[in-house]
Amino acid sequence: MNRRKILVTSALPYANGAIHLGHLVEYIQTDIWVRFQKMQGHDCQYVCADDTHGTPIMLRAEKEGITPEELINRVHGEHSRDFAGFLVNFDNYYTTHSDENRWFCEDIYTQLKAAGLIEVRSIEQYYDPVKEMFLPDRFIKGECPKCGAKDQYGDNCESCGAAYTPSDLKDPYSAVSGAKPVMRASEHHFFRLSDARCQAFLREFTRREGVLQPEAANKMQEWLGAEGEDKLSDWDISRDSPYFGFQIPGAPGKFFYVWLDAPIGYFGSLRNLAARTPGLDENTYTRPGSDAEMYHFIGKDILYFHALFWPAMLEHAGYRVPTKIFAHGFLTVDGAKMSKSRGTFITAESYLKQNLNPEWLRYYYAAKLNGSMEDLDLNLTDFVARVNSDLVGKYINIASRCAGFVSKRFEGKLAAVGTNEVVMALRGAATLIQECFEQRDFARALREVMLLADQANGYIANAAPWVMAKQEGREAELHAVCTEALEMFRLLTLYLKPVLPKLAAEVETFLAVPPLSWSDVATPLPEGHRINDYKHLMTRLDPKQVEALVEANRESLAPTAPAVVPPKAAESQQRHAEHQQHVAQAAGEPPSPRPSPGMGEGASCGLSGGPLSPEIGIDDFSKLDLRIARIVNAEHVEGAAKLLKLTLDIGEEKPRQVFAGIKSAYDPATLVGRLTVMVANLAPRKMKFGMSEGMVLAASGEGPGLFILSPDEGAQPGMRVK
Ligand SMILES: [Zn+2]
Repeated sequence: MNRRKILVTSALPYANGAIHLGHLVEYIQTDIWVRFQKMQGHDCQYVCADDTHGTPIMLRAEKEGITPEELINRVHGEHSRDFAGFLVNFDNYYTTHSDENRWFCEDIYTQLKAAGLIEVRSIEQYYDPVKEMFLPDRFIKGECPKCGAKDQYGDNCESCGAAYTPSDLKDPYSAVSGAKPVMRASEHHFFRLSDARCQAFLREFTRREGVLQPEAANKMQEWLGAEGEDKLSDWDISRDSPYFGFQIPGAPGKFFYVWLDAPIGYFGSLRNLAARTPGLDENTYTRPGSDAEMYHFIGKDILYFHALFWPAMLEHAGYRVPTKIFAHGFLTVDGAKMSKSRGTFITAESYLKQNLNPEWLRYYYAAKLNGSMEDLDLNLTDFVARVNSDLVGKYINIASRCAGFVSKRFEGKLAAVGTNEVVMALRGAATLIQECFEQRDFARALREVMLLADQANGYIANAAPWVMAKQEGREAELHAVCTEALEMFRLLTLYLKPVLPKLAAEVETFLAVPPLSWSDVATPLPEGHRINDYKHLMTRLDPKQVEALVEANRESLAPTAPAVVPPKAAESQQRHAEHQQHVAQAAGEPPSPRPSPGMGEGASCGLSGGPLSPEIGIDDFSKLDLRIARIVNAEHVEGAAKLLKLTLDIGEEKPRQVFAGIKSAYDPATLVGRLTVMVANLAPRKMKFGMSEGMVLAASGEGPGLFILSPDEGAQPGMRVK
């Protein structure tokens, strides 16, 4: 095998705010790709860092009464915790405020200067005479010159969308001190992008096969202009003191603009990693002439920096340029941009605190990421449905239906894997799925995997091991079917491993196999191999958990978004998310085979709810009118030890009152709003506490616990259950 050397980066998150679900699209996308490359056996380094410099950080620290260093240290801890929580496995997560990064910044600047590509000239800018600092565009506010809206930023109007420069604002004021700013001249350092060498290089670079996605390449041609048009202007790379960043060598009081040192931070992080990794030579990745590859995953809003400024800097300072730049779209939630008032501006921390499984989100994002720059919609209803249907209903189901027989009937030992059609189909799909992952079309990879899971479930349903288990003389068949099914499960796990690394590790423990890599496709579980007892691998996602998550995020962040600390450009994706996106086509998928009650691992021993009742005919059953009911109210009943009084809506004019003996198991407050199943044609009964107009169904067994039923997402009050 050709062992590739690959350096992968995600954009650096800014160190003045929390990681949210919008950020995670990129880190999850990158992490999946990196894990896939590592499973291929390639030498892949994934580096990232906090982006720590600039005016917003400086002012934020000042506001909190701490030093910028203290602020960025704290945020580094928070970001690291959140990324780890979502299983984003950087080889190094560093900081741009480092000696390594300073060295690269100074070197690149010095090389560009020597090449005649740095120019110093005086420009006029708004200056805050009270705070004694020059004001970035976003720190000047005033009246929109176009629509007259008040308190608009210096670069564009959030009311009418107009773009302008700060000097166009009417009645400008400093967002830092409130003072009226004055125009003042200052010397700035420019990177001469307008130089013919830069223009020619970028024209060639942005047209290289596959370097940019087609839509990105088109955008670049627009920005570059036609041949001879040379639309690029020089880039202002310096800022005046006071500024939190690196001083420009030989230019007292001048600092590198944060957007110069941020991408260089990729190299700073790499050098830091190389220093403690034997055999990792940074020059392989940073200097031209090696066959190593370098890929940047970014949001489409920072293409300009990564496809123009960054490669032009590298090329003319003696460094290697990116192999490819992968841009993705923005996240919308339920078709709209994330919103604090709707509770859809969801932080990574709150998702984890609400005990939602991070692999649910990884799976959902992956199922929608196709390598394009389209926006991605997190449809919360679809999220629940997709996780439950695909992961629990199709995938986990395979193991939960077959593992018990192997443990209980065959001492955990497997038969020989034969030439089963579905196993062959699964093995044969390896190349296609590999290609999909490589092309970052995770959506297609997962569609293929789920189609294969459907085949596996079809095989099991057909073979019906739970029937075999009850019949004399079918031991060998039962053994073979369960073995084939577990081999299918192993292959599905292998394909899902880049997306679900933690679950895959649990499956590896269950199957008692070493960590799966791609080449293990061809090596089936050996005959006589002993697996461990099956333990439940993943729970269903309860829509209530998602509701609670939204509730926890509603408005909760609003007071901490101070007007004086606006986000850096890379952080402002909320403002840019203008496209509404498609919803996944869950509706068009075939229904997932579901296990019958008692079909799983408990099937071969006695039923926990006691022996079965005498057989009935369909006519007997159809006398029962079971309905989906919404619990609109639930309360304790004075003097009743076991009963709760429920008010149930099944779509009738007046809700029903039902007394249910579930007090021991449920706090009434947790029941309100949820759906359950009731017997709607049971004759009303006069009870001590009032009339009971029906009955809710609940499961119980020999052990403690009482469990009322819930329909799947989408069921409506009044629907008949039959
Ligand atoms: Zn306006």
